[in-house]
Amino acid sequence: MNLYERFENAFMPNYGVPPLALARGEGTTVWDLDGRPYLDFIGGIAVDSLGHAHPALVEAVSKQVATIAHTSNLFLHEPEVLLAEKLLELLKEPAKVFFANSGTEANEAAYKLSLKYGRATGRSYFVATENGFHGRTIGALSLTGKKAIRDQFGPFPVEVRFVPYGDADALAQAVTEECVAVFLEPTQGEAGVVPPPDGYFKAAREICTSAGALLVADEIQSAIGRTGHWFAHQADGVVPDILTLAKGLGGGLPIGACVGFGFAGTLFEKGDHGSTFGGNPVSCAAALAVLDNVDLDHVNRAAELLWSGLEGVRHPLLKGVRGRGLWLALVLNEPVSVKVQQAAQNAGFLVNALQPDAVRLAPPLVVTAEEIRSLVAALPSILTEASHG
Ligand SMILES: *Cc1c(COP(=O)(O)O)cnc(C)c1O
Repeated sequence: MNLYERFENAFMPNYGVPPLALARGEGTTVWDLDGRPYLDFIGGIAVDSLGHAHPALVEAVSKQVATIAHTSNLFLHEPEVLLAEKLLELLKEPAKVFFANSGTEANEAAYKLSLKYGRATGRSYFVATENGFHGRTIGALSLTGKKAIRDQFGPFPVEVRFVPYGDADALAQAVTEECVAVFLEPTQGEAGVVPPPDGYFKAAREICTSAGALLVADEIQSAIGRTGHWFAHQADGVVPDILTLAKGLGGGLPIGACVGFGFAGTLFEKGDHGSTFGGNPVSCAAALAVLDNVDLDHVNRAAELLWSGLEGVRHPLLKGVRGRGLWLALVLNEPVSVKVQQAAQNAGFLVNALQPDAVRLAPPLVVTAEEIRSLVAALPSILTEASHG
């Protein structure tokens, strides 16, 4: 049996069998089991901020695991304090931090924090967006606006009302003084890397403030330099009440964070929440290495090159490009994203068939100009192979 057959035998079918097994990586390059190289333009779904096997990440993690790998929350350790302080420095606003292990857990913390507020103020329901994605555990899933992954696991303990993403009027209608919190991605990720119209996030801030509802920014996919800012909301010049982080923060090590700004940072009382592994020293050391080595100027230069290159590609299958920074979707005229993903893989590039008509790119933030040029140059023939295949 090959590894793919053994995978199928050993694992639950929830992922299907992935199309490729990876053996190792370095920078933006990964190698499969046969030693064939690929340029990785998906980066573990916007996770591998520093690319693969970045020397600073390797050193930080190796050193930490050889020093002390785990303390539990019965004891504190220096890496977690350094990381929380570093996040607060980059956020530039008074706030407090809770560390989890993943995105969905960061959102569970945000959800429980919101519930504390809702119970104290007699509020009853949440608002989230159609096609929004907030995670797979029951609390985060209840806020996820994708029927196919949500409905079969309901009903959920708290009412969530869904509004069309990007429609500020619909949001204003839905958010009353009974609303606990609005969960919002500053740009929708899993829905297809869909930025909202200009001013939407700012309008959401005003709507929440006037109704007294909390604004929760889910930046699990969009933060840590991905959009050319440390945090996506910083582009809008407004501050949410709660912010959730994960994916790119650990550069491949599992860590999530829930940040409460101002009074939202003080809603949990002693004993209200916790996590055995959350903020463990190894993941914190990794995240510190990420924050020390992401170069926003490089991200913005690379993004400019990628966007101008892609926007210069003329092909009947390519409708356009949307997204922010080094995080975008190639929008197709036909629902053949799986064929584009396969054709790209055949040509030596890893991309992600995100929606039937959208292919996601989220390369490591260290992607080079040469690597970007090579994808742009290969794209027309990839699209042609996908159209014929
Ligand atoms: C990936 C993602 C999540 C869930 O994160 P996990 O680490 O997979 O639990 C939540 N929200 C957004 C916006 C995401 O992109």
